[in-house]
Amino acid sequence: MAKSPEGEHPHKAFGWAARDPSGALSPFHFSRRENGDEDVTVKILYCGVCHSDLHTAKNEWGFTNYPVVPGHEIVGVATKVGNNVEKFKVGDKVGVGVLVGSCKRCEPCQQDLENYCPKVTLTYNSIGQDGTKTYGGYSDMIVVDQRYVLRFPDNLPLDAGAPLLCAGITVYSPMKYYGMTEAGKHLGVAGLGGLGHVAVKIGKAFGLKVTVISSSSKKESEAINKLGADSFLVTSDPAKMKAAMGTMDFIIDTISAVHPLLPLLSLLKMNGKLVTVGLPDKPLELPIFPLVVGRKLVGGSDIGGMKETQEMLDFCAKHNIAADIELIRMEDINTAMERLAKSDVRYRFVIDVGNSLSQ
Ligand SMILES: [Zn+2]
Ligand SMILES: [Zn+2]
Repeated sequence: MAKSPEGEHPHKAFGWAARDPSGALSPFHFSRRENGDEDVTVKILYCGVCHSDLHTAKNEWGFTNYPVVPGHEIVGVATKVGNNVEKFKVGDKVGVGVLVGSCKRCEPCQQDLENYCPKVTLTYNSIGQDGTKTYGGYSDMIVVDQRYVLRFPDNLPLDAGAPLLCAGITVYSPMKYYGMTEAGKHLGVAGLGGLGHVAVKIGKAFGLKVTVISSSSKKESEAINKLGADSFLVTSDPAKMKAAMGTMDFIIDTISAVHPLLPLLSLLKMNGKLVTVGLPDKPLELPIFPLVVGRKLVGGSDIGGMKETQEMLDFCAKHNIAADIELIRMEDINTAMERLAKSDVRYRFVIDVGNSLSQ
């Protein structure tokens, strides 16, 4: 007989879980595995609230296995390290992102692209190598194989740095892979939410000219004055859209709702690249003519491997990049989720787990 979440492992753990598609979160007792030779035990201090957490809590992608403890933008302190762990010691500041396991043998794993491993173990709502369910960062502690633990740079703020572990690497990795980092080139960032606002900052750090592409002008002054974008383009303004045609080298499309690609492709120059990182729940229409005529490329990208995630954290630390956040207490999570569903957040909620999660 399957053991209860509370009894299957030796270490008592406590967090907040969703139990059904209402997505409402409430206190939840469960357990974590013993710290093995390769493991790091992390006392969780902060956890970002990613849009995936909301999708999963409400089973909007159709594969939620309740109860689910979301959270994959985890920052904390190492409280125990296994015998074979040399990279970390007790007291180190560490991060845990979207994945906590992979096969370590396949081609992607051997190329430090664990995120594309067919047997990847996600931080929550996944089944680990030991056959038990994974629970995420809306909780007091987590035990993770050292390969999937990140050094959290000293000068990164623990709270505002947490969203880099998903939002940051999600936009950094495609910029590196698709060659979108050459200073002076023109980057469009479509959608200005959790991902988009970090893409603006990282793009500026690479020396790019950055234009935010948005359906409304609501965030224009903030994008330019606070986030450092060079310009702002409203897709519903036909004159401005026409004037901007053929001016961009790259676009990162972070929009997670179904939307037309043609206006974005039209903004690209010859040889331009559009990379999608949002995950609309229905397919988008792909207009072939502009791709053929302008030798343009449409690609995708999914988070990043552990080595590149560390590189991204170090890059952000060096350039003083963190997310703009609203810090909340654990008990405010349901209100925050409601606001997130309406995109009413500037630009990421982060839970102050260390100071507000109490039994
Ligand atoms: Zn995420
Ligand atoms: Zn693998």
